[in-house]
Amino acid sequence: MNYVSTRGLAPRLGFEDVVLAGLARDGGLYVPETWPVLSAAEIRALKGASFADTAVAVIHPFVADAIDREALRRMAHEAYADFGSPDITPLVSLRPGLSILELFHGPTLAFKDVAMLLLARLMDSVLASQGRRAMIVGATSGDTGGAAIEAFRTSERVDVVILFPDGRVSDVQRRMMTTPKEANVHALAVRGTFDDCQALVKAMFNDHAFRDRVQLSGVNSINWARIVAQITYYFFAAVRLGAPERAVSFSVPTGNFGDIFAGYAARRMGLPIDTLIIASNENDILPRTVETGRYAKKAVVATTSPSMDIQVSSNFERYLFEASGRDGALIREMMARLQTDGAFELGPLWPRLKADFAASGASEGEVADCIRETKARYDYLLDPHTACGVVAANRVAREGETVVLATAHPAKFPDAIATITGTRPPLPERLSSLLTDRERFETLPNDLAAVQRYVEAVRSVQEVAT
Ligand SMILES: *Cc1c(COP(=O)(O)O)cnc(C)c1O
Repeated sequence: MNYVSTRGLAPRLGFEDVVLAGLARDGGLYVPETWPVLSAAEIRALKGASFADTAVAVIHPFVADAIDREALRRMAHEAYADFGSPDITPLVSLRPGLSILELFHGPTLAFKDVAMLLLARLMDSVLASQGRRAMIVGATSGDTGGAAIEAFRTSERVDVVILFPDGRVSDVQRRMMTTPKEANVHALAVRGTFDDCQALVKAMFNDHAFRDRVQLSGVNSINWARIVAQITYYFFAAVRLGAPERAVSFSVPTGNFGDIFAGYAARRMGLPIDTLIIASNENDILPRTVETGRYAKKAVVATTSPSMDIQVSSNFERYLFEASGRDGALIREMMARLQTDGAFELGPLWPRLKADFAASGASEGEVADCIRETKARYDYLLDPHTACGVVAANRVAREGETVVLATAHPAKFPDAIATITGTRPPLPERLSSLLTDRERFETLPNDLAAVQRYVEAVRSVQEVAT
């Protein structure tokens, strides 16, 4: 499988290069040249398959030239060996028509573990075959950073620097990044918002000399391998609910548009999905875009679902590329307009968007009401991100079963849950030392040169074998 950039000017790459590249050299994002399709018979054959074996069936077509099936099988089984549930991503029925897909049983209690643990293994394997190291620099609105540091802290080939917005992540989120002791992982607080952190990372990728010097690599949701790994649970859940005979809908708490793009990809791969619901919080750029046909940035507001406090949804570019019939020139034009005007019109792509997605944003009041009501009625505690998904699912009318992706464990946001319900959810037993372990991190201003100096300073020196 080869990959092409959404902006049409970067070279086509194979999977090995795409997994290390992050952003394409023309500023675009990589997408597969064609969508592999699983036939109804192949989807039916996934009935009863383990999560790891489902992952192999879904992911193998995307990586086939780089990684053989048996190696992929070993990586998948290793990645998913240590989850807090034997089902890895268990499906819980709240009521007829509404199920919760719990994606938070990994080591950092959020769905990002599912993709990141596999990505770390894919990257180590690619780097080993090329005999080199990489420096991962990523921005986090809270959950990506912990998942990346957790997934890569045992890597022998990767250094990690994670930028997070100072004071805008929860204590649990910060501690997941700042307490691991391994010398190859680093958390860096930036005085700014998540969008500032993301802009710094993008600027480092666009500084080609720097990028080559430090062997820069990315694990944000722009990394194609993460999207691929997230496709797995759409198939896993839908098959459990009767696919391919029955179509289900998914409501997806969305920030950077990565997780929901994985749902779109599942649909392109032949999975019968009825409605894909974009669920936002008060940072509702995507619901506004679906409603008005204009993608327009506003200031970020802080909410109880900080991992969705985002105004520039990077992966939306992948969708626009698909919706436009892969018109790289049009995407370049839209992204240039976003840079200069902070907005662009979807024009002829707007009807497509409305056909492909429903969307709804939840206010903070609606999130709180939903958490209290779901607890009272079903004795089930939602985290605030998942609650946005439930609010959207309740609002968007459709037939059949809707699966809400539960993207985080409520104990990851104990302050918000305590304020809303009056009770502080305890951390699972296996994380008991998190709140007392010693923290280690630096704080820097929102300044590219300062951050670049930091990255160069912490980089492990490459022991060249050749
Ligand atoms: C990252 C994250 C999201 C948003 O996912 P995207 O792929 O960025 O859309 C939602 N909920 C939680 C808990 C997250 O960590």
